[in-house]
Order: sequence, then structure tokens, then C-alpha cells
Amino acid sequence: MWIVTIDSEKCDGAGECVNNCPVEVFKIENGKCVVVNGDACEGCETCVSVCPNGAIILKEM
Ligand code: SF4
Ligand code: SF4
Repeated sequence: MWIVTIDSEKCDGAGECVNNCPVEVFKIENGKCVVVNGDACEGCETCVSVCPNGAIILKEM
């Protein structure tokens, strides 16, 4: 399984990850991205690719 975390210091809240994750792992809350559906992550790394700030950390467990 995959563990998705956000470095909220780096996140700008613009939502590229929200718009591009195929399984809706993210949402924007109070101007920052949060992980709301981490169990669904398929490890495609799209979010890591589209995040302009390197704020998403993806680890395989
Ligand atoms: S790796 Fe893919 S499935 Fe997982 S959170 Fe990122 S975009 Fe979504
Ligand atoms: S793409 Fe990166 S900077 Fe943009 S909302 Fe998602 S985590 Fe935050």
C-alpha cells in the first residue's frame, strides 16, 4: 500500500493534485491540500509530477 503525506509548509493550495489524482485522494481545506482518501492511492505518482512545490511525499509500505 501507499502512504501519501503533504508538507503543508510547501503547499500553495492551488489544487493541481486534487485536479489530477484519478482516485480523489486529496481535497483543499482552509487553503491547503489534505489527504482524505489515502487508502485509494494506486501509486501512479501523478500528484508528485504535477505538484509545483514538491509538497507531496509518496511512500510504499
Ligand atoms: S500517486 Fe496517483 S493515486 Fe496516489 S495520490 Fe498521487 S495521483 Fe493519486
Ligand atoms: S499540487 Fe502540491 S502545492 Fe498544489 S495543492 Fe497539491 S500538494 Fe499543494
